[in-house]
Amino acid sequence: MKTDTKHTTNDLLKTYFGYDRFLPNQEEIINNVLNKKDTIAIMPTGGGKSLCFQLPALALEGTAVIISPLIALMKDQVDALKANGISASFFNSSQPSEEQQTVLKNFQKGELKLLYVAPESLPQLNFILNSIKISLFAIDEAHCISSWGHDFRPAYTQLGNLKKQFPNTPIIALTATADRATRIDIANQLSIPNANTFIASFDRPNLYLDVRPGQNRNKQILNFLSKRGEQSGIIYCLSRKSTEKLASTLKAKGYKAEAYHAGLTSEERNTVQDAFLNDTTPIIVATIAFGMGIDKSNVRWVIHYNMPKNIDGYYQEIGRSGRDGLAAHTILFYSFSDIIMLRKFTEGAANEEYQLAKLERMQQYAEALSCRRRALLGYFGEHITEDCGNCDICKTPPKYFDGTLIAQKVCSAVARLQEQEALGMVLDVLRGSQNAQVFEKGYQNIKTFGAAKDISWRDLQQYIIQLLNQGILEIHFHENGRLLLSPSAKKVLFEGKKVRLAHINQEKNQVASEKTP
Ligand code: ADP
Ligand code: ZN
Repeated sequence: MKTDTKHTTNDLLKTYFGYDRFLPNQEEIINNVLNKKDTIAIMPTGGGKSLCFQLPALALEGTAVIISPLIALMKDQVDALKANGISASFFNSSQPSEEQQTVLKNFQKGELKLLYVAPESLPQLNFILNSIKISLFAIDEAHCISSWGHDFRPAYTQLGNLKKQFPNTPIIALTATADRATRIDIANQLSIPNANTFIASFDRPNLYLDVRPGQNRNKQILNFLSKRGEQSGIIYCLSRKSTEKLASTLKAKGYKAEAYHAGLTSEERNTVQDAFLNDTTPIIVATIAFGMGIDKSNVRWVIHYNMPKNIDGYYQEIGRSGRDGLAAHTILFYSFSDIIMLRKFTEGAANEEYQLAKLERMQQYAEALSCRRRALLGYFGEHITEDCGNCDICKTPPKYFDGTLIAQKVCSAVARLQEQEALGMVLDVLRGSQNAQVFEKGYQNIKTFGAAKDISWRDLQQYIIQLLNQGILEIHFHENGRLLLSPSAKKVLFEGKKVRLAHINQEKNQVASEKTP
């Protein structure tokens, strides 16, 4: 039986998709779905999520319903499936009603193996859903269901009823971005608490991670490009105006570059995008609107002209380079004035505090004094033990000292505070601050109170940020930014794991106090 299914999945992979082997985690995920078990699949962009529901859709009896928020991409995905001889359609509000009727008719007759539908349009299918065989529900971009995620879509909340309505139909939820708390929230919101979760590694070892001070960005970019020939790359900016300005600067220097942003007509955007895809315009200067779902494998570099507002977005955007597995270079320009601007953007937002906490983590990443990749992966809950050797810090490391004792004190304070307190309070306790909040909670009585009073507030703050970046501590973004101990913190506390800390130097302060250009 088992070998039989194996045989078929491999056959289907080859016959319909033309691939010889599975990418990491695909086979395990597919088998879980084929066993009718609920599944949460966390895979980085480019990890091959689509196959995880497309292949089971072919192997199982009935029609698979794919819920996807990206109406613009549905047609492309369906066309690709059709080109492989798979019967698929999509259903959303952008279609003329005649077309909608045809799709519904085919769906009802059970003629489709896959139907893509926008969450807003799902209620219109309700009648048919109850009358035909549904093989599985796939929920793409599943983080949209969590109000904790960075991309909440109210229409996703109704998906919580699917499991109650169809208890025997497997649900597979897929996303590329979800910190640990969001993952748990996805399972709760979808009422699939027993789902098996598969987390593919987020490591993209071929991406060089480079963070540079944001002074003279244009000059730095021109210098970088002068060594890059006609390579394809994307520069992300915060505003439409700066994309236009930078694109003309590059054009004036003889580069083939175009701006891309939401202010262009859809024809203009398509033209720019096509020219990028077929390499006639190798350089795109874009707002974050660019790149969602773009499958171009030979993007050789990505530059963030401005600070992204969180690590989730940053990771997705740099992830658009090097999808062919060959070396790609990413540069993040770090500027304090960007941070001030991004802080202003969050003002008045419903989840302002959460957004600020995420922004602060982004800033800490940019200020990291230890391997960037460890910091980046740690953010996604993945803890690697070796430095990567392929980031700016690994290439030119700062001076380190043995910070084991400091790390032990910090971790022990976090533990004694029951992982309930944020950075500020942990600092106060370690430094033995005699303030009202401390006394209110009786923290002056805990054992680590004042354990690091010999270290200045600022230095200690920087050391704790280093521990965050080394993945020894984590932040719970949804609950007041309280600090948590990661699995490696336990090694620090109980197994004598050595911790290296970098000396706090003056250079980083200069970046932090840089004036608006
Ligand atoms: P994601 O949705 O996770 O970003 P996709 O499903 O778009 O990823 O897949 C990314 C790329 O990998 C696509 O070009 C896809 O055709 C390709 N791909 C998927 N599975 C395999 C496989 N088993 N072998 C080779 N390439 C694959
Ligand atoms: Zn590194």
